[in-house]
Formats: sequence, C-alpha cells, structure tokens
Amino acid sequence: MRLDRYMGLCLGHPEHGYYMSRDPFGARGDFITAPEISQIFGELIGVWCMAAWQAMGAPAAFNLVELGPGRGTLMADMLRAAAKAMPDFAASAVALHLVETSPVLRALQKKTLGEKVRWHDSIEAVPEGPVIAVANEFFDALPIRQFERRAGTWHERVIGLAEGRLAPGLSPAEIGQGGQDGDVIEFAPLRSDIARKLGQSLAQAPGAALIIDYGHLQTAPGDTLQAMRKHQFVAITEAPGECDITSHVDFEALGKAMAQGGASVHRAITQRDFLLAMGLAQRTEMLATKTDVRTRGVLERQMTRLADADQMGNLFKVISATSPALPVPYPFGRT
Ligand code: SAH
Repeated sequence: MRLDRYMGLCLGHPEHGYYMSRDPFGARGDFITAPEISQIFGELIGVWCMAAWQAMGAPAAFNLVELGPGRGTLMADMLRAAAKAMPDFAASAVALHLVETSPVLRALQKKTLGEKVRWHDSIEAVPEGPVIAVANEFFDALPIRQFERRAGTWHERVIGLAEGRLAPGLSPAEIGQGGQDGDVIEFAPLRSDIARKLGQSLAQAPGAALIIDYGHLQTAPGDTLQAMRKHQFVAITEAPGECDITSHVDFEALGKAMAQGGASVHRAITQRDFLLAMGLAQRTEMLATKTDVRTRGVLERQMTRLADADQMGNLFKVISATSPALPVPYPFGRT
C-alpha cells in the first residue's frame, strides 16, 4: 500500500481513523498545538486577519475560513479579539466556514463557535466570494508519498505485511530525478492540491490566507514522517488509527502551489518572527500587569514555548498569500 493511502486511512478512515474518533489535543491527549497553549496566538492571528480585511477594502460580507480547526479555539480567540477591536470585521464575517472531516471535532467546534458555523468536507465546497482563510497545523496532517534512492535507483516507500505484521517496504519507482543513495524525498499531492485551490479562490475574489505549520522554508531531501502517541514518537506502523501521523510541510512547495492557483505568495517567515512582529511580547505584558505573580509566570512560559528559537519559534513557519492586487501584508516581505 502506498504511504499516502496508509496515512490517509490511519487518520481519516470513517470508523477507525485517528481524527474521526477522538479529541487528540492537550496534556492528556497525544499532542498540543499553539492555540491550545495560549489565547494570544489566536488573538494575534485575529489582528492579522483584521488588517487583511481592511486591505481588501473592508467588504461588508466575506467568508472567514479555517482549515482543520481542531477544537475551534483559534477561531474563538480570533473572534473575541475582533469583537472588541473591530466589531465591523466580526459583523462582516457572515459565515464561518470550517473545513473539517472529523465528526467528533465538528461537535466540539459547534460547542465553541455556535450558530454561524458551516462545515465542509473539502475546500471546494466553500462558497465563492471575498475570503480570509487560516490554517494552523492542518497541512502537516495531509498524506504524503516518500521515495528513497538505493543503489542508484528510486523506490517508493510502501507499507506491507511481513510475518503477519505491518512493515515498511520499497517498490521500484521512476520519478525522473537525480540524487544520491540514501536520499529520501517527499511529495504531498493533496497538500499541493488544496494549496492550489486556495490560490484560485484568492485569484477569483479579494482575499488573504495565512498558513502556520512546522516545516522547512526550502525544498530539501529528508525523511520527516512521524507518528506520535501520548506526546512520544512511535513507529508509523504501530497501532494504526491510534497515533497522530504527520510530516513537515515544505513551504516552498506550498507557496508554489498557491502561486499556480493565481495568488501572490509572500515569503515564509518563522513563527517567532511572525508572533514578535505582531506584538506577542506587548500582549503578554498587557495581560501580565492585570494578574498575580503565578499567572504572570504562566504567561511568560507560554510566550517562551510559542516563540523561543529552540521551542516552537523556529521550527514553525508562517506563509501568507493574497489576491494579486493587494499589498504585501505586514509582517511579510520585511525581513
Ligand atoms: N488547527 C487546530 C487543529 C490541528 S490538528 C489546532 O491548531 O489546534 C488537524 C486538524 O485538521 C483536525 O481538526 C483534523 O480533524 C483536521 N483534518 C485532518 N485531515 C483533514 C482533511 N483531510 N480534511 C479536513 N480536515 C482534516
């Protein structure tokens, strides 16, 4: 079985798929994401979206889209910030379009976000029109293919059975590319497909998109596939459907796909640079002055976790794309 099929089934099988049957987030789950670490993450993304909306000419109605919203925390934090800072923005977001396949997470999102929500299985189903789209840790969860070079030829990595157990294997493949023995390269066809469609929607109507994920700025060989269970790395063949399987996002490939769709793509930056430029330290300070010493310590640790170079700060990257007629959005194109 090709790796993308295996990964797609492990994560998205209607009955046994990892995301389809559980809420995986938090200390007692398998992993924790930035919006679950601090409310400030969603608030700052909300600020970015409000600025994008103004740059779009403050349309009286637009689609606010989130891909893979998890518990709905990021969207809730964005909307709370918007309701205070720019009520017209919040009122113009006529519907919240959530692209989400998991029924368990849809139920949680409904609880958090209420009546304005429309769910879609895929991005194609989102109605046309002015759009602001965000995605945090969505693209890493999409299936990938891997190819490995051995003895001068390429092979596709597959999953099969060895003595009745799931085991990795290799199948000869022709990919028309050079390389050195031991190289592993990854392609994420679904990731590119969704990014291209996002690019098309920005070409057709005024809009902006912000994508955050772990990954690398430039395409390079390397095996980044990983499975995680209870905050520990495990083999991808262990307990299929019980572990989160992801890979690092190739931001160069993601950007190219959005550009193919017709959007203007702005060079990716680190999460650290993005959050600090958006005011992470100032917002932390503002909340800290209103609270006790203990909570102040918590706020500082949350900031460290999101932005420090050896924590999430440099591993995570942020890329944006806009309709071609719009200016380069802050803080992109500055560094
Ligand atoms: N953005 C959230 C959740 C990230 S986890 C956060 O930062 O906390 C990945 C999310 O993408 C989950 O909501 C999962 O159910 C959803 N997802 C995974 N694969 C998907 C697919 N193919 N189509 C739509 N949603 C998907």
